[in-house]
Amino acid sequence: MKLLHRFNGGIHPPQHKTESTRLPILSAPIPEKLVIPLHQHIGTSAKPLVAAGDAVLKGQMIGKAEGYVSSSVHAPTSGKITAIGYEPAPHPSGLRDLCITLEPDGLDAWIERHPLDYLNMDPSSLRNRLRDAGVVGLGGAVFPSFIKLNPGSGKKIKTLVLNGAECEPYITCDDMLMRERADEIIAGAKIMRFMLHAEEVLIGIEDNKPEAIAAMRAALKEAPFEVIPVPTIYPGGGAKQLIRVLTGIEVPAGERSTDLGVQCFNVATALSVYRAIAHGEPVLSRIVTITGAVNKPRNYEALIGTPIDVLIRLAAPVKDSDGAIMGGPMMGFELPSTCVPLVKATNCIIVKSATLFPPAPQPMPCIRCGKCAESCPADLQPQELYWFSKAGNFGKAQEYALFDCIECGCCSYVCPSHIPLVQFYRYAKSEIWAQEREKKASDLARIRHELRVDRMEREKREKAERLAQKSAQARTQMNSEEET
Ligand code: SF4
Ligand code: SF4
Repeated sequence: MKLLHRFNGGIHPPQHKTESTRLPILSAPIPEKLVIPLHQHIGTSAKPLVAAGDAVLKGQMIGKAEGYVSSSVHAPTSGKITAIGYEPAPHPSGLRDLCITLEPDGLDAWIERHPLDYLNMDPSSLRNRLRDAGVVGLGGAVFPSFIKLNPGSGKKIKTLVLNGAECEPYITCDDMLMRERADEIIAGAKIMRFMLHAEEVLIGIEDNKPEAIAAMRAALKEAPFEVIPVPTIYPGGGAKQLIRVLTGIEVPAGERSTDLGVQCFNVATALSVYRAIAHGEPVLSRIVTITGAVNKPRNYEALIGTPIDVLIRLAAPVKDSDGAIMGGPMMGFELPSTCVPLVKATNCIIVKSATLFPPAPQPMPCIRCGKCAESCPADLQPQELYWFSKAGNFGKAQEYALFDCIECGCCSYVCPSHIPLVQFYRYAKSEIWAQEREKKASDLARIRHELRVDRMEREKREKAERLAQKSAQARTQMNSEEET
């Protein structure tokens, strides 16, 4: 029996998970149109490889990873590219993103696929495959996985953690994936362990998912893999929190778990690693929970680029439904419109209604009760961060470790004054980033100006030296002519 550790803080919000786990995962039909954003991951946007009018096959790369931190995107089915342009994207800003629009031909015809025998390959070739297959963290972070599978020279990963905690209310896509596809998740974990040379693989699943725990245990045939039920508490599925619970290791602020010998991946990412390596299949679809104010909440396997309003219609929204949240109610964000495509980060869509999500009560003044600090899993002083952010004292907010805030929302949830604390932290962070960008730009302009002044002075000096040299030569010549 593994000794578990605990992290400070955390809360127990109503779970709302059983609504969407009564039915098995259903494949959503291929829609009439797919809109595939080229930027679905952390890092640089992919570069388009196709033009309007091109015919493409399912799995064909249509956007190539550009630079090191990037990831490729693929045609989720066969058809014709009808446009490349800026389309509404699932982002809180409501801004448009460069997207490739694909009109499916209904044939769903694949490219030629090339499975790899990973045991006879070196990890760097496997990483290249994952980069080309567009494998990114599917827990919501969408960081390119090939980078996390390269700990760097001289670094040793002792523990590979697979995150099946899925702690946020309403979201059940990982739970259903583990129930139905445990074998493929374990096969992916084996490939990851091979790539990292990890000594042990710990699979953390919250104890409110007994079916998933049983399925994953049944799929495990040998050590050093271990399925470990962890206590149900939000945000126990945060990478740092889960690592703390499973290993006792505290990842300090500003450090990466990799530096401490631990690497953490979501269970759905493990499955896509398996599909990419063992079947030569890039990431073309994902499991998404459609829940909230709908009559048929369940999990769908949907092609990347499927319009979210199409998925919501499948789940039969209730009459007074109004808008939707992407992600969970704690860390997700309100979609500016449901006419946006499903992307690799879309783990859950919660359809809203006034009954389900009544308007937030009016915020009251802070009464310094300290409840927010008690609930904070990052050991911060949320009320101090609030005062500094509100006052625009961003330097002080940084001193109080604003950037250690994972925006989990526990503090806002427990605040008796209903202060939307996280909104203040997001505002402060974005202001600091804007100031840093401005400072970088003005530093760059100053350096450019100084270089220009240096160059002009050097040119002036060189010109003067050349002139002096010329007149010295002329004088020498005159003197020698006079002598003769
Ligand atoms: S929980 Fe709310 S009222 Fe209490 S100290 Fe924190 S911010 Fe102030
Ligand atoms: S949102 Fe930030 S400050 Fe609030 S509880 Fe979470 S980590 Fe702490």
